[in-house]
Amino acid sequence: MKILVTGGAGYIGSHVVNALGECGHDIIVFDNLSTGHKWAVLCGKLEVGDLEDSSHLYDVMNAFRPDAVIHFAASIQVEESVRKPLKYYRNNVANTLNLLDAMDRNAVRNFIYSSSAAVYGIPDTLLLDEAVPLHPINPYGASKAMVETVLGDMTKTGDLRYIALRYFNVAGADPQARVGQAYLDATHLITRALKTAQGDFAKLCIFGTDYPTPDGTCIRDYIHVVDLANAHLLALDYLMETKKSDIMNCGYGRGFSVREVVAAARKVTGINFTVEEAPRRAGDPPRLVADSTRLRSITGWQPRHDDLEFIIRTAWKWELKLKQRKRQP
Ligand code: UDP
Repeated sequence: MKILVTGGAGYIGSHVVNALGECGHDIIVFDNLSTGHKWAVLCGKLEVGDLEDSSHLYDVMNAFRPDAVIHFAASIQVEESVRKPLKYYRNNVANTLNLLDAMDRNAVRNFIYSSSAAVYGIPDTLLLDEAVPLHPINPYGASKAMVETVLGDMTKTGDLRYIALRYFNVAGADPQARVGQAYLDATHLITRALKTAQGDFAKLCIFGTDYPTPDGTCIRDYIHVVDLANAHLLALDYLMETKKSDIMNCGYGRGFSVREVVAAARKVTGINFTVEEAPRRAGDPPRLVADSTRLRSITGWQPRHDDLEFIIRTAWKWELKLKQRKRQP
């Protein structure tokens, strides 16, 4: 199949591109390299471009004529979205409309969308299935929910079919450390903990210890990026085969608190890095854990790396490699 992947030079995108390439698909990565990297595109062709540039996007799509588009390109930091809402609505909503428009004008009908557990806000159920109402509490989550609304309306015209994958907390790296997370200002917990262990930061802050959870810190469902990449391949196959739109949660169905992640990171690295309790971070829901029955039953997805220490081990291997690379002249 011919697949156009926006944001394919980024963290999750690069793992999916790798997996698609290993299956023999023909890929164009469309990425502005704002947070992604050229070296992360191991398969297919990289087209450096911005989704804001509608005519460039149209031309690339027109020349390539993809069977499907997988859309990763987005801004993804919850706290930043609270400070810079316009950036999130522009990058995540307006630019996605540009992409959908370019697809429509080129009669490209199949779309895999990176959504997020942030669409749920502060749910009152312990395990979240896709029927839980969407009440995002930050602009990042709102931007993802808005696009889901657009997609739902577009399918009614019969011009588009999509699978929205609602990611829970994606972490870890390719076990062979060929690709991994490499944002300049990584804010995610596991990356931040490992960079603290390496001495890049003096301490790791625990944001909020007064949440209504057993140890007072937020609980998240951490999913290994390779399992998530595999979910994309299965969702794409399902979409192409059945032509049915759907929404699926991507997580393992069990949560870890910030304190539990810190303990696991200390164990894996063998480094007792400094931790400090700090006030809550804006926009954080106390608990997000997936019910991923739908993804499993519809696509046959079976996680292979549902193990927090394994997730952290692969991320640690990647962080050590990144550090080594930076030291080289
Ligand atoms: N967190 C933390 N310290 C950090 C980074 C994150 O305590 O340096 C917490 C954050 O407040 C949240 C959880 O870890 O409760 C997961 O945050 P992350 O940014 O990794 O992912 P998010 O759930 O926001 O997408």
